[in-house]
Amino acid sequence: MALRRGFKKEAKELALEVRAELGTDVFAPLDPYALAELYGIDVYDLRNPVLPAESVRYLTEERPNVFSAALVPMTPSGAIIIENHIHPPRRRRSTMAHEMAHVLLEHKFGFLLTDESGCRTAVREIEEEAAELSGELLVPAEAARTAAFKGWSDQTVARHFDVSVAMARWRMNVTAARRIACRAIDRARRQRAVPA
Ligand SMILES: [Zn+2]
Repeated sequence: MALRRGFKKEAKELALEVRAELGTDVFAPLDPYALAELYGIDVYDLRNPVLPAESVRYLTEERPNVFSAALVPMTPSGAIIIENHIHPPRRRRSTMAHEMAHVLLEHKFGFLLTDESGCRTAVREIEEEAAELSGELLVPAEAARTAAFKGWSDQTVARHFDVSVAMARWRMNVTAARRIACRAIDRARRQRAVPA
């Protein structure tokens, strides 16, 4: 299933607006925890003593991959996020950006539980939108283009934006950043080659 027409453009714009609100430059790494704070979303992890010890042990020791985070609606308004603190920092940042994308897009949710394949209980369209926006939040298309012009590898992009190499590769490919950069460089080369 494809994203609805115009969504990618909206996601690009929304991500840049959110970055501006956070005071985070388009080419700087974004802190999704600061984003949660800005939107009044409290973040808890599985060390919270209110959680049943047996369940926590299951989710942190036996099957650590089944649970990344949950976005839990709170009445009368707002939500909290519970995250699995044993995951590596870059994965947690990505999960947090994903959950915050649901918040920013005002997705109607009951209880979104994220595992390795996204939120299991949510519909596919909502998941694709959250994935797209979280990518734009962490590595905006505009930033990916800048990185491409700098000739950065996926690893360099990952290090700079503090995301996984897989996320960096996806952003560099999906935004056509390298293709655009190569075309521009070719064009410049051709122009230089023309005798004055
Ligand atoms: Zn989700």
